[in-house]
Amino acid sequence: MANKNFDECTSFLIDDGLFVGRVARLDNVLKTIIHKHGYVKNVSVALSETTALAVLLANALKFEGLFTLQLQGNGPVSTIVADVTSDGKIRACANYDKEHLEKAWALRKNEGEIEATPHLLGTGTLAFTIDDGKNNYHQGVVDLQGKTLEECALRYFKQSEQIETMLKLFVEIPEDEEGDWKAGGILLQRIPNYGGKNMDMENIAELKNEAEILMKSLKKEELFDKNLSLQEILYRLYHANKLVITKENSYEFKCRCSREKLLKTLRGFSEDELSSMLDENSKIKAKCGFCSEEYEFTIPEILQKLN
Ligand SMILES: [Zn+2]
Repeated sequence: MANKNFDECTSFLIDDGLFVGRVARLDNVLKTIIHKHGYVKNVSVALSETTALAVLLANALKFEGLFTLQLQGNGPVSTIVADVTSDGKIRACANYDKEHLEKAWALRKNEGEIEATPHLLGTGTLAFTIDDGKNNYHQGVVDLQGKTLEECALRYFKQSEQIETMLKLFVEIPEDEEGDWKAGGILLQRIPNYGGKNMDMENIAELKNEAEILMKSLKKEELFDKNLSLQEILYRLYHANKLVITKENSYEFKCRCSREKLLKTLRGFSEDELSSMLDENSKIKAKCGFCSEEYEFTIPEILQKLN
């Protein structure tokens, strides 16, 4: 079957630029990440949702470099991090306490319930950072308050940026272990002083209401239909609202770890400290938290490269 535009994000305008929007969906990227780590189901759901949100936010903010969305909390899942580069590379990982998670799982109210992301994280924060690679950072933080990740993100835009935002996220859990994970979403924003200069408030409110109703009419089956491209989906939703497609970005999984980077880190330790890290085969093993790639080093190799 054709796989149209998965691992992609399409940017668009409607109503003469009154609203800017993004629609995104991921499958292979998530499959790679989840299979590499072998996360349990509800952690995979939270990670998929967070990664989809990261793609939508990264595209909503103009940036060159690296966009990182990080959730941190005191719940069974302590962190979820998703990295998106402006040239379309994604990596993501989660840290969680399996026992703590199983206890929470046992306390579920009903069988089919998959816990919402903020609930798994507990009390904590949602933060994003933009790193342009030239030591310029921009950071935004909001408390993880809300029933869903959508609500938490919307709070950020309302409180910190005061940008009217509408957002919907979707996750599809595969039926069996070999199946595909899918996540995606749609985001609409009204950028102050951008579109709608000659419109009155009433007209704007009406258009907003309509745009939101149409956004909410998007069904999960539609977004994850491999026979429909993102453009076709947008056309279905907004063909009567002066839809203009402005950008299409595609994504792939790629970790930025390397032997060289780890060697650099290891060179920061003294010879004594390095000795204490040796395993029974006189090797120092280091595993990347993002991609689970395992690297092996010997002390002579680390020291040799110093010169
Ligand atoms: Zn890695």
